[in-house]
Amino acid sequence: MSAPAIADAPSAFHLLAKPTGAVCNLDCSYCFFLSKEMLYPGSRFRMADELLEAYIEQLIEAHSHVPEVQIAWQGGEPTLMGVEFFRRSVELAERYLKPGQRALYTIQTNGTLLDAEWAAFFRENGFLVGISIDGPRELHDAYRVNKGGKGSFDQVMRGLEHLQAAGVEWNALTTIHAANADHGREVYCFLRDECGAGFVQFIPIIERVSEAADGEVPWSSWRDRPLYEQKGDLVTNRSVSAEQYGRFLIDVFEEWVRRDVGEVYVQMFDVALANWVGEPPSLCIHSETCGLALALEHTGDLYSCDHFVEPRFKLGNIRETRMLELVSSPKQRQFGLDKRDTLPQYCLECDVRFACHGGCPKDRFISTPDGEPGLNYLCAGFKAFFHHVDGPMRFMGERLRVNGAPAEIMGLYATEDARRGRNDACTCGSGRKWKRCHGAELARVDQW
Ligand code: SF4
Ligand code: SF4
Repeated sequence: MSAPAIADAPSAFHLLAKPTGAVCNLDCSYCFFLSKEMLYPGSRFRMADELLEAYIEQLIEAHSHVPEVQIAWQGGEPTLMGVEFFRRSVELAERYLKPGQRALYTIQTNGTLLDAEWAAFFRENGFLVGISIDGPRELHDAYRVNKGGKGSFDQVMRGLEHLQAAGVEWNALTTIHAANADHGREVYCFLRDECGAGFVQFIPIIERVSEAADGEVPWSSWRDRPLYEQKGDLVTNRSVSAEQYGRFLIDVFEEWVRRDVGEVYVQMFDVALANWVGEPPSLCIHSETCGLALALEHTGDLYSCDHFVEPRFKLGNIRETRMLELVSSPKQRQFGLDKRDTLPQYCLECDVRFACHGGCPKDRFISTPDGEPGLNYLCAGFKAFFHHVDGPMRFMGERLRVNGAPAEIMGLYATEDARRGRNDACTCGSGRKWKRCHGAELARVDQW
């Protein structure tokens, strides 16, 4: 079927499909999504075969004018569907793709159920696999626990080994929360050195709550909590603070910019560089508008965004209305434009707005210094990070402009570091001495 003509329909968009809905074999204490089970009481939480076909067909139809269609799976835990479900999804995609078109398959998983069969399937079909891992064992296990409350680190690492043995392309998705927020460099070095990650994505955990909880975490598990919605101007004590978020990113940046530019892809740094050179960034959060990253439930219900799977943000069901029509609907357009149009004056006057764009609307629940509501909870962290990287981003942007390589910045840092006194303050702003902070390894090499 050819795509129906819809004026101003987007030529491409991201859609996270959740074949098991919110159902997961883990019980991560910070997971906002597990409670979404409550939206579908009595459901078997398995995407039906005929819906799978409708989904693939409509997704490809909606991408008629571009050469690549991203088919992205997420959860809950999508691997609970079993590998046969995904085999069928690939067969269907191959059937519906137009000549010259290709599919890019991605799946986000907690990694615990992966074995050699999964790895072989991913490898065979060129899947890009996102693994959720929060750092070394004690940091990962702080919140990423199974139904019995036990840490999942060993199972994740076993799953990762299967992927690596089969040569599957993978990336790390690491959340930043109260337990690991003060360990940025340690987390990053673990991902790079112990896991061999070449692509790292950091996601801040911000769990909103409405009522004061006497300083206690109000819920230890999603089972005790009501349906999670984007409401409330307080956060749980598992959440990262704005200052910690900024420090975490700076801590990682100071390591990355000396050793790994061009080798390890850190999404936030790439997004920042894109904004510094005036290219569209690959992340909605730091784009001017959004609305092109939707979520599909196992029933066919389509929602404005993965973070807004709640009744007021349901666009419709693809069994009843074609996906392209829902994605192009006035409601969804407005959702995306609101990101830009609801910024407080404080953001409009901000010197790093071009890089930040106010962050994600889900996190805009604090007030500006002059009392206007709608400022992003992470604002102080965004400002700290974007100000910190201004010089290096300008340098890398300039190298790109003249067809040079951003990695040339590592030489600049090496020259400056060679001149640095070992007792000088570290460049990350931690207040620690250079030799005890980001210069520690260099100091050892030079035997200072
Ligand atoms: S609401 Fe946030 S996460 Fe969702 S599309 Fe917009 S910026 Fe992205
Ligand atoms: S850094 Fe803060 S003030 Fe500036 S655009 Fe971002 S959220 Fe707004």
